[in-house]
Amino acid sequence: MDFQQIFNAAPTVQSSAPGRVNLLGEHTDYNDGFVLPTAIPQETTVYLGLSPNNQHHLYSAELEEWVDITDSNMDSSLKPQGFASYVVGCIRMLEQVGHSIPPVNIFITSAVPIGSGLSSSAALEVATLRGLRSLLHLDLDDVKIAQLGQQAEIQYAGVNCGIMDQMASSLADPQHLLFLDTRTLERQKIPLPQDTEVVVIDSGIPRQLATSGYNQRRAECEEAARLLQVKALRDVTDPETVETLPEPLRRRARHVVTEDNRVLEARQGVSAERFGELMNDSHASLRDDYEVSVTGLDQLVELLQKTPDVLGARLTGAGFGGACVALVTAGRGEAIAHEVLENYNKLGYSGHILVPE
Ligand code: ADP
Ligand code: MG
Repeated sequence: MDFQQIFNAAPTVQSSAPGRVNLLGEHTDYNDGFVLPTAIPQETTVYLGLSPNNQHHLYSAELEEWVDITDSNMDSSLKPQGFASYVVGCIRMLEQVGHSIPPVNIFITSAVPIGSGLSSSAALEVATLRGLRSLLHLDLDDVKIAQLGQQAEIQYAGVNCGIMDQMASSLADPQHLLFLDTRTLERQKIPLPQDTEVVVIDSGIPRQLATSGYNQRRAECEEAARLLQVKALRDVTDPETVETLPEPLRRRARHVVTEDNRVLEARQGVSAERFGELMNDSHASLRDDYEVSVTGLDQLVELLQKTPDVLGARLTGAGFGGACVALVTAGRGEAIAHEVLENYNKLGYSGHILVPE
C-alpha cells in the first residue's frame, strides 16, 4: 500500500525521522541531567497531501489502520486513541502555537521497531511535524519540532516523557552522538568514537515492572535531592556528597551522579576503548546501584561484553526488560549480533536483533 493507492492522488511532500538509542545517560533525564543518544538507521516516513474534505485522514501501513478525524474547528475537545493520538497531537500543538492547519491526508510507513524502546513514537511525531512544516511552509526550527512532539506525546498520547527522544529524532544522525543537557537544552553533536558502530538487541523480556519501578526510582531521586538540598540530582557534582544519604537513596543518587559524570567525560571525546568502559560502568551502576536490571539483561550484557570486538555494552532504556546496546568495531556489528543472539537464546530467551537492520 502507498499514498497513491490509499488516497487516489499523489502525495505533495514526504518527510522522515529516525528512531534513537541512548548510549550513555540512563535515568538522568528526570534528574535534569545529561544524555547521549544517537539516531538509528531505521526511519519513519510520512507522505502528506491536503485532504479533499473537512477531515484529516490517517493511515499507518505498519498497523494497517485507518483513522478519520474531524477538523479541529469542529471538534477540538475530542482526543483520538491509538496511533492517531500522536499525529493529531502534533496537529493540535501546531494550532496551539498559532499555526492554522487545514485538513490533511497522511500516510505513515516505518522501519523503526514499534514499542521496542527505539522511540518509534518520537520518530512518528518528528516525521509528522517535519511533513506539516514542509507542506504548509511553517516557520519551525528543529528544537521547536522536538518540543511540540514532546507536548503532543504528553498531552495527547498521555505519556509523561522527557525531551530526549524527540531531540534525538529531530537533531541526531547515525554517525553522531547528541550530547544533551536536559535542563538547559544545551546540545552538541559529537562523532561516534572512531571506527565503531552500534548494535541493539531486544532481550525478549517484557518490561513488566517498568512503570512501578520507574515511578519509585523517580520518587527516590526527588527525596535524595530534597535531603541534599539541591533542586535536582544533576546539581550534585561530587559523588562523595551522596555517601551521607540513607540507603537505598545513597545508591540511587550515586548512580545518577556517576552516570552524569560518565556522559560529561564521553562528551570530551574519549577513545573508543574508554567509551566502551563507560558503557560497561553504566551497566554495573544500573544493576547494582539503581537496581533496574534483571537476570536476562545481565546475561545478554555479559555475552556482549565477552565477545571480541565489543568495546562496551549495557542495558538501554528504563530497564526491567527491553533492549541492550553495544558499541562494537565498525563492520563487525552484524556478525556479533547474530553470534551473541544465538548464545543468548540458547539460555531460553527469545531475543531479537534491532540494530543493524
Ligand atoms: P517506542 O517509542 O519505544 O517504539 P511507544 O510505546 O512509546 O514505544 O510508542 C509506540 C506507539 O507509537 C505505537 O503503539 C503507536 O501508537 C505509535 N507508532 C509508532 N510508530 C508508528 C507507526 N509506524 N504507525 C502507527 N503508529 C505508530
Ligand atoms: Mg516512545
